[in-house]
Amino acid sequence: MGHENDCIFCKIVNGDIPASIVYEDDYVLAFTDIGQVTKGHTLLIPKKHQENIFELEEDTAAQLFRVAPTIANAIKKAFDPAGLNMVNNNGKAAMQSVFHYHLHFIPRYGKDDGFQPHWEDN
Ligand code: 5GP
Repeated sequence: MGHENDCIFCKIVNGDIPASIVYEDDYVLAFTDIGQVTKGHTLLIPKKHQENIFELEEDTAAQLFRVAPTIANAIKKAFDPAGLNMVNNNGKAAMQSVFHYHLHFIPRYGKDDGFQPHWEDN
């Protein structure tokens, strides 16, 4: 369903490049992030290419958030984190680097887990 030629996440949707897929249905795909900021860092994306929140269709948003608790609980079960951040960057100025909508699931293990979002600097 992904269709943008240069989009790395469309290539994952189409099976053109490999990914460790943890969840899939007709509309969405979840896979582990290649640059794990903490153990279990996972991305949830729509199969249909939409750049970011400003393009995201309401039906797609519903499909993503319908499975979000399932993804979060699977991460909790697998890695037993103390908490979990869901993060979504929209636009270059907001640190988006892949322009196919994605939700980050970032398990948190406590102060020594090595992940400090830029908004927690100081
Ligand atoms: P953004 O900065 O756009 O919010 O996040 C993009 C995320 O995609 C980054 O965390 C980055 O590590 C991840 N990423 C980029 N390319 C690939 C890839 O080819 N495979 C996987 N699994 N993750 C990727």
